[in-house]
Amino acid sequence: MYNLLDNISYDKLFSYCKGTFQEMIEAGITSVGEFHYVHHSDILNKNFDLDKAVINAAKATGIRLVLLVTLYTYAGLDRSVELSDKQKHFKSHVDEFLIYVKELKNKVVKEELVTIGIAAHSIRAVHEDDLDKLWQFCANENMPLHMHLEEQPQEIVDCQKFLNKDPSEVLLEKFDKFGKVNLTGVHFSFTKPDLLRKLTNNGTNLCICPTTEGYLGDGIPTLSTNDSIVLGTDCNNRICMIEEARLLAFGQNLKYNNRNNASLDANNLMDILTVNGARSLGLESKIGRFQENYDFDFVSIGVNNVVLSNFANSDELADAIIFSCDNREVVNVCVNGKILFAKKIYSD
Ligand SMILES: [Zn+2]
Repeated sequence: MYNLLDNISYDKLFSYCKGTFQEMIEAGITSVGEFHYVHHSDILNKNFDLDKAVINAAKATGIRLVLLVTLYTYAGLDRSVELSDKQKHFKSHVDEFLIYVKELKNKVVKEELVTIGIAAHSIRAVHEDDLDKLWQFCANENMPLHMHLEEQPQEIVDCQKFLNKDPSEVLLEKFDKFGKVNLTGVHFSFTKPDLLRKLTNNGTNLCICPTTEGYLGDGIPTLSTNDSIVLGTDCNNRICMIEEARLLAFGQNLKYNNRNNASLDANNLMDILTVNGARSLGLESKIGRFQENYDFDFVSIGVNNVVLSNFANSDELADAIIFSCDNREVVNVCVNGKILFAKKIYSD
């Protein structure tokens, strides 16, 4: 990603995002929560111009977007270390950041398919006092809050060294201090099981990105039944949600030497791909299920093909989709009543 920042401009980011969003639509993704921190093309003129590139790219493709505007202020838990030149494209001070987010939120009110959430990049990049402000802002404004968490053991080691606690303990303290917020942590690969259970008891969504975590060699989180799990594509080198769902289950099967850990059967994985994602993005009253007064977003999966034809009328259809299919079986993708992708089906 850092290499793509050379001479980054509005046009370049618009084109990267438009291509990725189009690929997402064709993979059956109707809503994207974009964890976005490349804000400024000009590091001297910090005007968040690149955020507009993401919003306009989503509008150009028709995908539903929750822009998770991400605070990134520090290079590490040793707050005296300077950001690199490339990281300066991310930088903002928490107060100017929140003024900007409030303005942006008001500006997109008229957009049907764009809403705003907040992300704290990580405990490395966001001071714990600044996290207080983001937390309270999200609670007051009823906005989702996302944050990278414990993807690598080093983050826990550094956090212990500078703050005498794990990053998840920082979040647990915020729950005690400021009450509930719609929080989603991303990764949790090395989170201690007791801390993870306390976070999920507070309603925290666990965003797992199995393909990326496998690609990077991160590790497999310790999941449990009743966790509110959602899935992320993260580095986007492979965009296939059915595969992410399958790998989520396979990771747990391999880790625990059984098939029942965290109840990741096909029906629960379908919920993870729909209602749980909507909840994590603050859209649970709008999308994620077919219901009166909900927006009409859907993906259709073709059953008239070699993979699924024997399962078309079977109780095992969900199982067959999750554990056998990929993007090839995606036939229609519809957002807010508008078909964005329709595969031609050839028959004799
Ligand atoms: Zn990540």
